[in-house]
Parts: sequence; C-alpha cells; structure tokens
Amino acid sequence: MEWTRSETLALAANACVYCHGLGLRTGRRGHEKPCLCVFRSVFRICFKRFRLCHEREKNKTCVSLEGNVWSRKNEEFVADFLSVTRRALHDEDWKIFNYHFLLGADWRLCCRKLNMDRGAFFHEVYRITSRLGRLYRELQPYSLFPLDEYFNGTTRERNRVLEFRARRREGPSFTPPVREAA
Ligand SMILES: [Zn+2]
Repeated sequence: MEWTRSETLALAANACVYCHGLGLRTGRRGHEKPCLCVFRSVFRICFKRFRLCHEREKNKTCVSLEGNVWSRKNEEFVADFLSVTRRALHDEDWKIFNYHFLLGADWRLCCRKLNMDRGAFFHEVYRITSRLGRLYRELQPYSLFPLDEYFNGTTRERNRVLEFRARRREGPSFTPPVREAA
C-alpha cells in the first residue's frame, strides 16, 4: 500500500522534531516515507476506538436492529484489534503492552514490574506503538485503519471482509482483562 501526503499530513504531530508536522521523512535511498509520529497517531486512534468499543460491549443494552449491527461491529473490532496486536508482538513486548495499555498501569508501576528505568520504558512504548500503528494501517488485504472504512465498508465487500476477519481470528482465542475507562 502507498501512504499519501495528505494522509500523513493529517496524522502527523505538529510538534514533531523529525518531520515538523509534515508526516514525511526522507529515507536512506532518498525516498520519502511516513514519520514515526504518523504511525503512533494511527495507534492512538485505533486504541481509543478499541477502548470505546470495549466499554460499549460491556454495557450493551441496545435491542434494536441498528443497535445489534453496531454492537457486532464493536465486538468484531475489539476481537480484531486484540488478535492482530497479540500476533504482532513477541512475549516481552506483549507484557509491556498488556500492563500499560490494557491494564492501565502508569509508567512507575510498569517500570517496577518490568525492572526498567523510565527512559528505557518510554523508548519501548514508542517503538511498540509505532510498529503497531504501521501494522494497523498496512495490514493486507483488510486493514484496521482508517476506522471509517473498517466500520462503514460497502455491503458488497462486507461479507468477504467479515469472512476474512473471522478466519484471521481463528486459533486459540483469549480475552485479556482490560482496565475500565476512567
Ligand atoms: Zn513526525
């Protein structure tokens, strides 16, 4: 897949010292490539939606057809997000992801648990979230991001996508505990 300039521009961090908010950096062979701040931004957007869907799933009270369709999409996104993330990370990275993002432990607690100093911890978090953000966008053939494509894909494509995603989730399922939103 190709990243477009308008896409990276919209996702870049204004204060980024590497791309100065443009979202693109020049790679080793002179090619432009997305800046890591763009990947991290994709991660944050997907993670935020994951938390939201997870909350809604837990408190679901909708009985309408519309409500059920919405609820299935939420459920599916939660399952996809977790399965794609778990597969992408080796055990050490998953431990960090799980403590910090799913269980909501702050850096002090994570550093104590993982026996790391603050600098090393944030370095790892940056590395993991850039990797995941990139993956969520570049995942083939159906990515997790952009979210509007995920949630509002055309109906014709929809069944094929559903089938594919269900296959992607096959294998041992797991439901890690997730901290409730504050
Ligand atoms: Zn940047």
